[in-house]
Amino acid sequence: MFRLSELKVPLDHSADELRQAVLARLGLPAEALLGMEVVKRSIDARCRSAIQFSYSLDLELDCGARVRRRLAHDPQLRPSPDRTYRFVGRAPGDGPGCSRPRPIVIGAGPCGYFAALLLAQMGFRPLLLERGKPVKERSADTFGFWRGQRPFDPESNVQFGEGGAGTFSDGKLYSQVRDPQHHGRKVLEELVACGANPDILHLHRPHIGTFKLATVVRGLRARIEALGGEIRFEARVVGIETTALEPPASGNQGSRDPFVGDRMGHQRVVGVRLADGTVLAAEQVVLAVGHSARDTFAMLQARGVAIEAKPFSIGLRIEHPQPLIDRARWGAFAGHPRLGAAEYKLVHHCSNGRSVYSFCMCPGGLVVAAASEPGHLVTNGMSQHSRNERNANSGIVVGLELSDLEPYGCGANDPLAGVAFQRHWEAKAFALGGSTYRAPCQRVGDFLSGTQASPGNPGSHGERSSPLLQASYAPGVIEANLEACLPDFAAAAIREALPAFERSIPGFSMADALLTGVETRTSSPVRIPRGENLQSINTQGLYPAGEGAGYAGGILSAGIDGIKVAEAVALTRLRLPHPGGSNGSACDPT
Ligand SMILES: Cc1cc2nc3c(=O)[nH]c(=O)nc-3n(C[C@H](O)[C@H](O)[C@H](O)COP(=O)(O)OP(=O)(O)OC[C@H]3O[C@@H](n4cnc5c(N)ncnc54)[C@H](O)[C@@H]3O)c2cc1C
Repeated sequence: MFRLSELKVPLDHSADELRQAVLARLGLPAEALLGMEVVKRSIDARCRSAIQFSYSLDLELDCGARVRRRLAHDPQLRPSPDRTYRFVGRAPGDGPGCSRPRPIVIGAGPCGYFAALLLAQMGFRPLLLERGKPVKERSADTFGFWRGQRPFDPESNVQFGEGGAGTFSDGKLYSQVRDPQHHGRKVLEELVACGANPDILHLHRPHIGTFKLATVVRGLRARIEALGGEIRFEARVVGIETTALEPPASGNQGSRDPFVGDRMGHQRVVGVRLADGTVLAAEQVVLAVGHSARDTFAMLQARGVAIEAKPFSIGLRIEHPQPLIDRARWGAFAGHPRLGAAEYKLVHHCSNGRSVYSFCMCPGGLVVAAASEPGHLVTNGMSQHSRNERNANSGIVVGLELSDLEPYGCGANDPLAGVAFQRHWEAKAFALGGSTYRAPCQRVGDFLSGTQASPGNPGSHGERSSPLLQASYAPGVIEANLEACLPDFAAAAIREALPAFERSIPGFSMADALLTGVETRTSSPVRIPRGENLQSINTQGLYPAGEGAGYAGGILSAGIDGIKVAEAVALTRLRLPHPGGSNGSACDPT
C-alpha cells in the first residue's frame, strides 16, 4: 500500500473524479489502481477564491518495476504506515472466579469508558463506578432542567452522568497529541464500532454531535459489559481506603520495583468507599472523575493524595450569526453544502500581559447551562451533528496564573484555590442572572462601551435578543453587566481582544453579538501528579487520569489517556515491566 498526500480536488467532485485525479497525478492507467481508501480529508481555504479539498489516500497499486522506480521519487508518495493498535498483554487468569479484586475505574466519561473498555478487551473484567445516571435518564434530567421542566440535579447534569462532560457537546474529536502507538486511531475506531459516523476516521476536524454521542455512549457500555466488565450507576465514590507503606530509607530516593514502578509513595490503595457506605476492595483504581468533581478533589486532599492547584481560564461565551462566520471563513463559498458551518480559532496577546483565546467553538450550536453545583452558573456550548442552529458560539477566555487563584484559597499553596476561585465567580454569575439559573447576558456593544445595562431586566419572555440574534441559552437570560462576574483583568483583556479579533473575522465585535457568562470550566483546577508508571506519585495503585487529573483536555485526549492508563494497570497486573519515560501527559485543550 502507498500513502499519497496533499492531493487537491475541487469541492464538487464525485468519487470517480477523485479516482481520476489520483490516476492523473501519478500518471497511471485505470487498471493500475486496485483500491483506494481515504485517510484524511481537510479543507484547503488558504485561497478563499478557490477553496478545495486536500486528500491523503492509501492506494493499492499494481504497477511494474519501472513505474515503481519512478514513483519512488515522488515526494508525496510513501509506503503506508501501519496504524494498527496493539494490546500490551492479555489476562488469561483474570476471568470469573479470580480471587484478586478487579480493577476499579471511577467515572464513566471518555477517559473512564476507554480505560474500562481496554481493560475488558484485555480480559480484566473491570468494575466501573459512576456517580450519575445512565445516559437516557441523564438526558431527560439535563434537557428537562434546560427547558424549565425539572429542577437542577447536582448528580445528573451536563458534567455528571454516563458519557461524562462531553456527552452534550459538539463532540469535536481533534487532538494535536503525538500518537506513535495509534491510541487515537483506536479511540476513533471504537467510537465508529459504537455508532459514530465512519467519516470521523478520515475527516481532518471530525465531530459527532450531541444526540449521536448519547447513542455512542450506550454502545461503549454494551461492549464493556459483553466482555465481562460491570458498570454501576448512582455509585458515587466518597473515599479511598489506603494502607501506609514503609517510608524509603533516608537518602534513598525510594526503591523501584520494575513491575510496579516507583516506590516513592507513602500509601497504597486497598479499597474505595461509596456514598451508600459500601467498601469495595481494590488494588488498582483508575481515577477518571473529570474537572468538576470538586467534592472528590477535597476527599483526595483529605486522604493525603498528592494534589496541586493548576491554572485554567475564565471568560464569557459569545454568539454571532453563523452566516457571519461562514462568510469570513469561506468567502463566496459560504453556504456550500460540502463545507458545512465554519469554525474559528482565535488568540490575542493583550497589553496587560494576558492571553485571550476562543475555547470550544461550536458552529451552528447552542450555549448550554453547565453548572454542577446548586447556586452556581456556568456556560459552555454544544452542537448537533448537523450544526444547523442559527448561531455560532465559543468561549472567549483569559488564561489564569496560579497567583490569580491563591487569594481565593485557604492559605498559601492551597491545592483547591482554583476550585474556590471558580465557585466565587460562578456564584456571582448566578446572582447576576437573578438566582434562577438564567444566565446574565450583554450585547458586545454595551460590554465594550461599559454601558450600564438595566440589571435584572429580562427582555420579552425572559430572552435577550438583538436585532440579529436571540440568545440560545435555554433556561433563558437576563440583561446584566457582565463585568460583575469577571476579575477586572479578565474583563479588560476581553475588551481589548474582541476588536482585535475583527482582523480575522470582520464583524466579530459587532455591537449586536451577544455575551453570556460565566465560562469557568475550561480545564481542571487541579493536577493530581503521577509518576512514570502513571500511578499517583504518593499513592500506589491510584491512577489519576483524564481531564480531572490534568492529563487531557478534550474527548479524544481523554480517551487516549484512558487507554494509556489501562495499559499501565494491565502491565502491573501481568507483572510486565513498564516502558520508562514520560508520565503519559496528553493535555490538549479544545
Ligand atoms: C458542554 C461541554 C462541551 C464540550 N465540548 C467538547 C467538544 O466538542 N470536544 C471535546 O474534545 N471536548 C469537549 N468538552 C470537554 C470534554 O467533555 C472533556 O474534556 C472530557 O469529557 C473529559 O473526559 P474525562 O473522562 O476525563 O472526564 P469527564 O468527561 O468529566 O467524566 C468524568 C466522570 O466521572 C464521574 N464522577 C465524578 N466524580 C465521581 C465520583 N466521586 N464517583 C463516581 N463518579 C464520579 C462524572 O459523573 C463523570 O461522568 C466539552 C465539555 C462540556 C462540559
